[in-house]
Amino acid sequence: INPNNVEILISAVKPEQYPETGLKEIALAGRSNVGKSSFINTMIGRKSMARISSKPGKTQTLNFFNIDNQLVFVDVPGYGYAKVSKSERERWGKMIETYITTRESLACVIQLVDIRHNPTEDDRLMYDFLKHYDIPTIVIATKEDKIPKGKIQKHLKVIKQDLDMDPEDTLISYTALSRDKNPMIFNAIEKYL
Ligand code: GDP
Repeated sequence: INPNNVEILISAVKPEQYPETGLKEIALAGRSNVGKSSFINTMIGRKSMARISSKPGKTQTLNFFNIDNQLVFVDVPGYGYAKVSKSERERWGKMIETYITTRESLACVIQLVDIRHNPTEDDRLMYDFLKHYDIPTIVIATKEDKIPKGKIQKHLKVIKQDLDMDPEDTLISYTALSRDKNPMIFNAIEKYL
């Protein structure tokens, strides 16, 4: 996979708008501000590809990125943003539910959590939802540069326990400040392609 070969496909709300690429899809989910755009941008080596569309308050869409004609990243709008209205939250929920439960090309979900904190209730709900529908999940604990190296394993253990992670799922700590772990993450993804 040449992650720098990226093409924005479409911002979709409804299934009729999902692109037909024949490729497997990897959806990216996480609380807003967890570092999802930074993760995507570091993974694909761009500074601002995933930024505009995911800002809170902007139209909530699923954003599809073709990665080197090998796979598709689907950026899911962040959850847990306090200023979102009830109706918007419901619309978000329906959109995600429809995508996750009906999309046959969905290979796995990358769920991002903040390594510094225990998973939030929303994080646990999202993970439980994915497990309920048997969606393989890679949990990325991001912002690892913000805690001492010696504490990373301890924080990962707490996250694994709090989410009650399926032993089949992978948990990887990450920092968007470096591309060092990109090969490891693409390897974890390739297991599901
Ligand atoms: P999103 O709302 O999930 O897309 O989050 P962003 O990618 O916009 O990141 C939210 C904030 O966290 C921004 O100020 C980023 O610069 C910062 N951030 C994201 N990832 C990292 C990381 O790995 N390390 C550090 N130190 N800051 C990060």
